[in-house]
Amino acid sequence: MNSYILTLDQGTTSSRSLLVDQKSIIISKSQKEFKQIFPNPSWVEHDPIEIWETQLETIKDVIKKSKITLNEIYGIGITNQRETTIAFDANNGKPICNAIVWQCRRTSEYCNELKPKYRKLIKEKTGLEIDAYFSASKMKWIIDNIPEAKELIKTKRLRFGTIDAWLIWNLTGGKSFFTDPSNASRTMLFNIKELKYDEDLLKIFEIEEWMLPKVIPSNGDFGHTSSEVLGAEIPIKAVLGDQQAALFGQCCFKEGDMKVTYGTGGFLLINIGSEFKLDDNFLTTVAWGLKDKTVYAYEGATFISGAIIQWLRDGLGIIKDSSEVEKIAISLDSNEGVYMVPALVGLGAPNWDQDARGTILGITRGTTKAHFIRAAVESMAYQIADLITPVKNNLPKDCFLKADGGASKNNFLLQFQADLLNVPITRSKESEATALGVAYLAGLGKDGFWKDEEDIRKNWHPDELFLPKKNREQEYAKWKEAVKRSLGWN
Ligand code: ADP
Repeated sequence: MNSYILTLDQGTTSSRSLLVDQKSIIISKSQKEFKQIFPNPSWVEHDPIEIWETQLETIKDVIKKSKITLNEIYGIGITNQRETTIAFDANNGKPICNAIVWQCRRTSEYCNELKPKYRKLIKEKTGLEIDAYFSASKMKWIIDNIPEAKELIKTKRLRFGTIDAWLIWNLTGGKSFFTDPSNASRTMLFNIKELKYDEDLLKIFEIEEWMLPKVIPSNGDFGHTSSEVLGAEIPIKAVLGDQQAALFGQCCFKEGDMKVTYGTGGFLLINIGSEFKLDDNFLTTVAWGLKDKTVYAYEGATFISGAIIQWLRDGLGIIKDSSEVEKIAISLDSNEGVYMVPALVGLGAPNWDQDARGTILGITRGTTKAHFIRAAVESMAYQIADLITPVKNNLPKDCFLKADGGASKNNFLLQFQADLLNVPITRSKESEATALGVAYLAGLGKDGFWKDEEDIRKNWHPDELFLPKKNREQEYAKWKEAVKRSLGWN
């Protein structure tokens, strides 16, 4: 049998390719950053060609570095930044404008206008809150503002893809235009109960189904790479949005299993099983839609998590490197009443307030930069507590939280989080949960690398366990007060 799975991990700031062997070991990686384009203060764009080219370069590089041949690759798994939208011409694959990135706020006002009339309907059909974050309003913006889009509609040549669909199109030389339910569920056009694009939603956003990629199972047949593109025909076997891939990679296969990723943003996902459910605190999303079953997840997305540490470094200049903050945070016995609400771009779950702004409270003459740093790290944990606390009673008694992402290296953060929630936290030994997640799915099956989920679970090893040690109820109550003061500022 062929020996490796090639994972493509197309993220917000870089494209990466990784080779995973049958023991779940990542034998080689390649990474290339690409440009972040900010045409306006709240607009974020990427160049679709650069996304594709950096991805392709990393594929070639990882194969070259590891000295394997293309026919040793069993299959490809794709995981990607979600919601980001690319519009292109079906005749030649040429993008008609830059990709509108998930972080881009250009359609905030339009989304606010939709809320009174459609909030309930959209939540019931898609599990999502109306927000500029999701793809639908970005697609509408392109149709309304890019003249070429209107031209291409006349001859049914306009195509809209999330990043997975764009990569698949390019990898297959324009043969496949497919996406999977985990990515489709982030467009705000996909009915996640019926698992198809929804006519009412397509009408609201004035989008036609022929513009969109076909949705097939996350472990479906996405086609083969074109030999002209890669020099071999390799099957694309699995696709998952990045957060859902991390849930899979952390082996959260059972109802109640949950993971938090502390990256630029903070993302909590809880496996809620095969039944579609709604909760006021969370988005409901498709975790994975497999050939034989669909699994849903509750998701809480906080926009600024590790990014607040970047702001301490690049905005305030009070640290040189994110690795410094753990030591400085524990140099204080407590936060001494200083709270920071990192609402730099508004607040995501559970407040969903686009007009909230960053707030620092409790400053005295004794306040030093250490207090700012501690308050920033604590804020990453409080935001996750805001998501879990309301549903904690519904979780299994023996539940624990699996942590990953760049900031999960910070032991103070994980200990503080365990204290706040009164729930144990484990950090996985393998920090690449996202890339591994989709590799697992690509290699799952009776003829694959792993025969079932149990077989995959054997690969998951905790690196460190953080048990709750200290009651933090008082601090948490104060944080809630601080959040109230940050709302509606803009
Ligand atoms: P992404 O995948 O979203 O680009 P990563 O998972 O690589 O992000 O995590 C990087 C983020 O984590 C950065 O925002 C950085 O500021 C933050 N970070 C990295 N190390 C630490 C640390 N030790 N403590 C707190 N935050 C950290």
